[in-house]
Amino acid sequence: MYRYIPFLLGLLFWSSCYNEYAQYSNNPTDYAIIPQVQSLEPMDGLFVWSDQVKLDAPADLKEEAAWLSAILEEQYDVAIGQRSGGQIQMRVEADSSNQESYTLDIHPDKILLVGASERAVFWGLQTLMQLTRKDTDLDGAIVVPTGRIVDEPVYGYRGMHLDVCRHFFSVDFIKRYLDVMAMHKINTFHWHLTEDQGWRIEIKRYPELTNVGAWRNGTIVGHYPGERNDEERYGGFYTQEEVKEVVAYAADRHITVIPEIELPGHSSAAIAAYPSLSCFPSEPTQVNNGMMSEASVALQAAGQEKIVQETWGVFDDVYCAGKEGTFSFVENVLTEIMDLFPAELIHIGGDECPKGNWKRCHHCQKRIQDEGLKDEHELQSYFITRVEQFVNSKGKQIIGWDEILEGGLAPNASVMSWRGTQGGIEAAEQGHTVVMSPTSHCYFDYYQSEDRANEPLAIGGFLPVEKVYAFDPMPESLAADKKNYILGGQANLWTEYIGTEEQAWYMLLPRMTAISEALWTNTANKDFEDFKVRLQDVRADYDRLGYNYAKHVFEE
Ligand SMILES: [Zn+2]
Repeated sequence: MYRYIPFLLGLLFWSSCYNEYAQYSNNPTDYAIIPQVQSLEPMDGLFVWSDQVKLDAPADLKEEAAWLSAILEEQYDVAIGQRSGGQIQMRVEADSSNQESYTLDIHPDKILLVGASERAVFWGLQTLMQLTRKDTDLDGAIVVPTGRIVDEPVYGYRGMHLDVCRHFFSVDFIKRYLDVMAMHKINTFHWHLTEDQGWRIEIKRYPELTNVGAWRNGTIVGHYPGERNDEERYGGFYTQEEVKEVVAYAADRHITVIPEIELPGHSSAAIAAYPSLSCFPSEPTQVNNGMMSEASVALQAAGQEKIVQETWGVFDDVYCAGKEGTFSFVENVLTEIMDLFPAELIHIGGDECPKGNWKRCHHCQKRIQDEGLKDEHELQSYFITRVEQFVNSKGKQIIGWDEILEGGLAPNASVMSWRGTQGGIEAAEQGHTVVMSPTSHCYFDYYQSEDRANEPLAIGGFLPVEKVYAFDPMPESLAADKKNYILGGQANLWTEYIGTEEQAWYMLLPRMTAISEALWTNTANKDFEDFKVRLQDVRADYDRLGYNYAKHVFEE
C-alpha cells in the first residue's frame, strides 16, 4: 500500500489544479474592470477559486496576502491558505519608471502577479477581485477569466476628499469610503477636518477645540440662507486613537491620508474655543443670515461672544495674523497632526479668507508694517509662508487651495486648484506641483440631474457622470516642460447639504467610479460607452456590498 501513496498524493495534487473550465470561452464583457487597464489580452479558460487554492507570497507582501484571504472569505466564503509553490504567486520587482505598474497573468491553473511596489501588487489584487465572479451558469463556481494584463496609472495623485465638518461621518463610514477608493485604485484620501461649523480632531494640547469647537447649537434648514434654525445641538469628533485606526486602515489599502487644517480662514470653530485667536476676541460672532439658534443668542447675551457657526458660507472672523499667539497655536496643532499622519503633504486650506478684520486690526497692521508687506494679500502670503517654514522644518510639505497664490506663493507649496484650472496652470508655470480639482468636473456636492425638484437638496451646479468621466487634469495650454508638475486630480465631497451616509453614497457613486478611470486610464483607452457597459458590473458590486448610488446613468 505504502508505495501507492506518492501516486495518490500526486493524483490529489493534479486534481486540485485541474479544472473543468480550462477551455471555457470568455466573453469580452467578462473583463469589466474600472478603471480600465492599459493592456489586456483575453484567453480561453477560467481560474476557479476554492479552498484548495494556495497563496505563495514573500514576507514583504504579508499584508497584501492577508487582504486577499480576508476578502475572499468575506465576499465569497472561500478560505485560501498559504503554501510555497501555491497557485497564486505574488512578488515585487522594482520598476523605476512607474511605482504603481503591475502585470497580472491569469491561467486556468495559476495566477502570477508582479508589481513594481507593494502598492502596485495591491492594485493588481483589485483588478483580480473585479474579475472574480460567482457564476450561476457554472453551478455557482467562483471564477476568474484568464488573460494577461499589463497596467499602470497615468497620474500618480488620484484623490478623494471628504468634508466631515459641515456634517460628521463615523469611523465606520470612512472605512467603507476607503474600501471603495481602494477598489478603484484611488490612492489619496483628503480628510477635511476643521471648519467654521466644527473642529473634528482631538488635539491634546487644546482640549477646548473639541469640548467647544466640535459642537454647534443648531443648523440652518433648507438651502442657504435657510428657512429657519433647527435648534438642535450637532457635532462630533475623532479621538487621536480613532485617527490612528483610520490611518492604519488606509495604509493597509495603500491609501495616503492627507489631513486638512484650515487657516487662516474657515476658523470660527477654533475661535469659539479660543477667542484670543481672533483679531477681536470680544466682538460677537456674526452670522450671515441672522438665523442664529436661541441657545447661541442666549450665550452671547450672557457674555460668550464667540460661537461655532450654524450657517454656511464665508465668515469675516479669521485667525489674527498679527499676534504671535496665533502662530504658536498653529504650530502646536500641526505638531500633533504631523505625528498622527505619516503623509508627506499637509493641507493647510488657505481658501476664502476675508481681509476685513485684518484691515482694522492694529496687530495685523503692525505686522504688515514690520514685515514691509504691501497689503493684506501679502499678509496672507506671510502667514502661509511662515506655516510652510515650520512644516518644512519637520520634513514635510504643505498643499493649499489656489488662493495661496494671491500675494505670492510660499516657496515649496503645492497647489490644489479648485476655482477652475487657471490657478493650477500658474502654479505649474512657477514650478510648483499641482493637484487639479476644478468645480466644473470634481465637485460631487453638485446636482446629478437638471431636474432639481426630484433630487435631494444640493449646493447647486450640474455634474453628471459623463462630465466627470471626461475630466483630464492636464491643461492643454501648459508648456511641455511644465507638464510633470501636474500630479493628478481629486474629487471633493463638501457636506453642507449631505447629512446622512445614504446621501453621501448617492452623491459619490457612480461619480467616484468615473473619476477613477479619468485619473488612471490613458485617453486612448477611455470610452464612455464602453465605461457604461463595465459600470453594470460595478453596479452589481455596489448592490452586493450594499452601497447606495445615483441611477441616472443607468436610465439613459
Ligand atoms: Zn489681527
